[in-house]
Amino acid sequence: MENTKESDQEHVPRDIKLMNILLQSQGIEDCEQNVLNQLLEFANKYTIDVLQDALIYSEHAGKKEIDLDDVRLSIQGRVNYSFTNPPEREFYMDLAESCNKVPLPLIPEKYGVRLPPEKHTLTGINFQIVPDMRDMYGNAKVTEVVFLGTGTSGCIPSIPCLVGVAPDCKVCSSSMTKEGRKNRRRNTSIIAKICEGESVYKSVLIDCGKTFYESAVELFPKNNIKSIDAVLLTHGHADAILGLDDLRQWTNYQRNGIDVYMNNETFKVVSQTFPYIVDTSKATGGGEVPKLNFKIFDNDETLNIFGIDFIPLEVEHGIQGPGQTYLSLGFKFSGISYISDVSFIPKKTGREIANSDILVIDSLMWIPHLSHYSYFQALEAIEMYKPKLGILTDFCHRIDHFDMIKDLENWQQEKRLKVEPSFDGMVLEITSDDDIIIH
Ligand SMILES: [Zn+2]
Ligand SMILES: [Zn+2]
Repeated sequence: MENTKESDQEHVPRDIKLMNILLQSQGIEDCEQNVLNQLLEFANKYTIDVLQDALIYSEHAGKKEIDLDDVRLSIQGRVNYSFTNPPEREFYMDLAESCNKVPLPLIPEKYGVRLPPEKHTLTGINFQIVPDMRDMYGNAKVTEVVFLGTGTSGCIPSIPCLVGVAPDCKVCSSSMTKEGRKNRRRNTSIIAKICEGESVYKSVLIDCGKTFYESAVELFPKNNIKSIDAVLLTHGHADAILGLDDLRQWTNYQRNGIDVYMNNETFKVVSQTFPYIVDTSKATGGGEVPKLNFKIFDNDETLNIFGIDFIPLEVEHGIQGPGQTYLSLGFKFSGISYISDVSFIPKKTGREIANSDILVIDSLMWIPHLSHYSYFQALEAIEMYKPKLGILTDFCHRIDHFDMIKDLENWQQEKRLKVEPSFDGMVLEITSDDDIIIH
């Protein structure tokens, strides 16, 4: 037996023997063979790296061969980042104390499991694979806003008005004439065209309601809109979301699908309305389902879309049960505040829109309404926030485009503010000098 063991020892490679001796000098008497192999591998790799560095130093110094100084320098250079100690316990304690000083934000009241915002949870993703859009689209600018629709949910004309069930509706009947074309209104929605560089355009759609298809048929070719690159939803009402199904025509051509941004409340309504879009396993097969990438945001989160910051503007939009207000969102982007559905503007949102170049605001009809601003409330808001240009939108059939134009003449002179009622197909062009041209 003794002889066999001795002969075994003789066949052990020299480096393994050395490694054994090194381990024994550290008080380690025995270990698995694998440990020795791994240590050997590490030692080989380390030696190669050191010699490679030494070679570079030697060549840099114009020497013919590597000498001891090069190797020493190479080892010195590696010590700093190969064998550093972890920071002291005290350092971690200080760090934890300063982090914990800042309280976590309140848990929002919302659908599903109540957790702090994702960025504050351990399960939240703290890395980013897709580069920040601010870096990718450094020179992005909103160059155009196209009004796809400027009417309320029911659209204008209202059919009962046309067939005489509700007679004497001058707005609905005029909307059917060429001259009264500006009274014809589909669901409120806009497209913001973002230009990056010379000719790359991105189209961001805000709201995709019941009449999205008709709006797109009429206005996309006219305005050279060839893609829908992102969608933002203001709230979950039918006139803001029911056109989502029609996006399938687009996602057939846009392979990566379309990013659709909304808050949790709206996502809940979208999930109930379009279960087969949210969960494609619920589709019945045989037909295409729009490929939408749902991006859920918190109302206090600024969204960067193609280099442009879109700030959600939380506003009240009527009630949703006794004593409970219903919230909708507007968006502020590139100096434009867009608020299509509002019955009350909270102070925080007021501060955000106070310095807008353009304020687009809900103006349902002449008289007050539970869930919308009236024409006069909209004007009060414009007077209060003083944008360079006020735009009225989301009209019902009780309000005539041409009556508003007349009424606004005096008001504008008196208040020294500029206001325009919008109409379907209206385009705001923002020039390179930041002038606003209305088509
Ligand atoms: Zn009518
Ligand atoms: Zn609404």
